[in-house]
Amino acid sequence: MWSKRQEVDYTLRRRELLAALRRRVRTVSREDLCDADPILVRSAVHHGEETDEACPICRSDRLVTLRYVFGSQLGQYSGRIKSTAELDEMQTEFGEFRVCVVEVCPDCRWNHMNSSYVLGDGVTRRPPRRQKTVEDIYG
Ligand SMILES: [Zn+2]
Repeated sequence: MWSKRQEVDYTLRRRELLAALRRRVRTVSREDLCDADPILVRSAVHHGEETDEACPICRSDRLVTLRYVFGSQLGQYSGRIKSTAELDEMQTEFGEFRVCVVEVCPDCRWNHMNSSYVLGDGVTRRPPRRQKTVEDIYG
């Protein structure tokens, strides 16, 4: 990720939440932290990239990260999940887009955004022409 910039790190927030849960702070419940919706869990199972860590809540080794991309230059691809390899290619194909890295455990539904950053070569381009999707064809 040679073009990585404007990184925002949310791992301090992660540590605070987990510490509050361990101390049984009333405002932080496991239900609040483990609330991944079914779509997020399904995305984690099918598109998640493995991590070296166990889930901080249930110790599962199925903890994964998802990388969502956002940006006006991405056109219809904004909001999609991309692999690290795809992001490597995209940083020379797009001027600027933001990546949000989300950690998800499919077993206990823990989820947390750990960081976000901007990638791209800085060259402003028009968004790609809209491609027909399955939804366009079949409604
Ligand atoms: Zn878990």
